[in-house]
Amino acid sequence: MIPMVIEVVRIGQRVVRDDRVTTHVVLVARAFGANSILMTEVNPEIKDTLKKINDTWGGNFSIKFIENWKPIIKTKKENGFKIVHLTMYGEKINDIQSDLKKEENLLIVVGAEKVPREIYEFADYNVGIGNQPHSEISSLAILLDRIQMGSQFNKEFSGGKRKIIPTKKGKTVVMKETRD
Ligand code: SAM
Repeated sequence: MIPMVIEVVRIGQRVVRDDRVTTHVVLVARAFGANSILMTEVNPEIKDTLKKINDTWGGNFSIKFIENWKPIIKTKKENGFKIVHLTMYGEKINDIQSDLKKEENLLIVVGAEKVPREIYEFADYNVGIGNQPHSEISSLAILLDRIQMGSQFNKEFSGGKRKIIPTKKGKTVVMKETRD
């Protein structure tokens, strides 16, 4: 089984320095099959960026700005979500991925800088994508791929203006008008 709903929450951001990283966390969450991302409103223009991407390439991935991670995580937990915190200190993904795949709804927590200690306690799973430091972008991508086993790449992003036809060489893009 593959989880039904996957949401991502990003805790913190190093202002300015992390702008591109935040954008890439959003793009990876969307492209790798999550439904939405919750994050603090550090760069409000991210919503415009996402809107343009959804308008062009389809799908209805959404961003919700939050003030404080704690009530969000508590509420999600009460509503049956399992909290998966990505941390280099966590259990090995290879050992735990089969348990994660059995869960119905997941809230994936990624950090930016040092995350509060409490998150390790709130989490149902603290998961290490390897136990070396790297990045929230790579760890999120790998986790999403492991739990969906590549099926996220078969998902249709409906409603966009353009669609890519995968080709061996060059670029083939079909405009929506010609598809309908
Ligand atoms: N020193 C920070 C700490 O102690 O959390 C590391 C911050 S790292 C730049 C940002 C985020 O990337 C982390 O909060 C975590 O979510 C993710 N991350 C980095 N390496 C990871 C790993 N090996 N496994 C899982 N997540 C990782």
